[in-house]
Amino acid sequence: MHELSIAMSIVDLAQQEAEQRGVRINAVHLKLGALSGIVKESLIASYEMASFDTPLKQSRLVIEEVPVVIFCLVCKVECELSTIQMFCCSQCGAPSSEIVRGRELEVTALEVQS
Ligand SMILES: [Zn+2]
Repeated sequence: MHELSIAMSIVDLAQQEAEQRGVRINAVHLKLGALSGIVKESLIASYEMASFDTPLKQSRLVIEEVPVVIFCLVCKVECELSTIQMFCCSQCGAPSSEIVRGRELEVTALEVQS
């Protein structure tokens, strides 16, 4: 399970931060790109599992989903994809492999309680 190992490293990171700053973590905010290959529901379930025996037990994982955005070389604009099946510009239909966003998997913020 790929999600579980990711969840464990998120818990590790948050726990280190909590210890260093002497705070309690209420929530971990994460950006998740549509191309990250991670299933949101599965990651949340894994997070609950990974944090169960830690001080993060009561914390929540808040996931912000990031759609795929490509850059169209024809229109010179960024466009958001409605599907990740086809990497084509929504304006002119030209294919593009210039991915601007959508690969994210990063912790953006920690909600703490001191
Ligand atoms: Zn275009």
